[in-house]
Amino acid sequence: MNKNSIVAKKKFGQNFLKDETVLRKIVEAMPKNDNKIVEIGPGLGDLTKYLVDVKSVEAFEVDTDLCKLLQSTFEEEIATKRLHIHCGDVLQAWQSSLIDEPYDLVANLPYYIATNIILKALADPMCKNILVMVQLEVAEKFCAQAGEKVFGSLSVIAQSIGEAHIAIKVPPTAFDPQPKIDSAVFLIQKSADRSDESFEGMLRVAFKQPRKTLMKNLSASYDKTELQEAFEGLGLTLTIRPHQVTTADYHQLYNRIQGSLDDRREPRE
Ligand code: SAM
Repeated sequence: MNKNSIVAKKKFGQNFLKDETVLRKIVEAMPKNDNKIVEIGPGLGDLTKYLVDVKSVEAFEVDTDLCKLLQSTFEEEIATKRLHIHCGDVLQAWQSSLIDEPYDLVANLPYYIATNIILKALADPMCKNILVMVQLEVAEKFCAQAGEKVFGSLSVIAQSIGEAHIAIKVPPTAFDPQPKIDSAVFLIQKSADRSDESFEGMLRVAFKQPRKTLMKNLSASYDKTELQEAFEGLGLTLTIRPHQVTTADYHQLYNRIQGSLDDRREPRE
């Protein structure tokens, strides 16, 4: 089997990145440190070949045809332990940590599970930085600032853990086959642990109906009087919308209203 005989499988989200300029820019955008690299979905190995040049890589690929191809393409790197290929579904392999040493995730992710993978990487204590290609719309959600229309629970989760920004915007022409949407590479540099589940539960309730007021959304699960007191204490108007509240204020709000949930009811989604 060689590269040219491989037909991209839609079910695995296979859009291979062919643009050498973008591949080089991804490597340039990598944080400079001694961490290992984890690549999810090495595919035909186009990004992998750049990554193994600079660091040792643990790669996770679900497609057995591609695993075989990678094993023969990178025979030498595998023999010298610069590359280790794990063949199988990365989500199945992922317990609390994906590998047992500090790593940076660098990947052109399969878009159908990209958000799930990023949330798992954010929660993984061994993962220190995340540099990934995803659908542009998803990158914008993770990187949005309070006040922007797309600011949502993913933005608050990302900002609670570190700094997130879009590094490269990538058009469909950079891939084969070409996706129908624009893509982007974004970087999250982690500086804290992922917030607890009940904070994220509050965010889901807060952003459930993004056009409604924050007060209306939260009062479905939290005591209204305590909410009003908390809003007043933080100087938030009762008409403020969920995307207008900063990450810092979401944490303050959570500290003030958490008790009003614990004693009464669980957040409803
Ligand atoms: N890195 C390659 C590139 O840039 O050309 C391929 C990227 S392609 C968008 C996504 C890759 O993820 C494919 O190789 C696909 O087979 C792999 N993949 C899809 N689902 C996966 C899963 N659950 N676990 C591991 N790899 C997966």
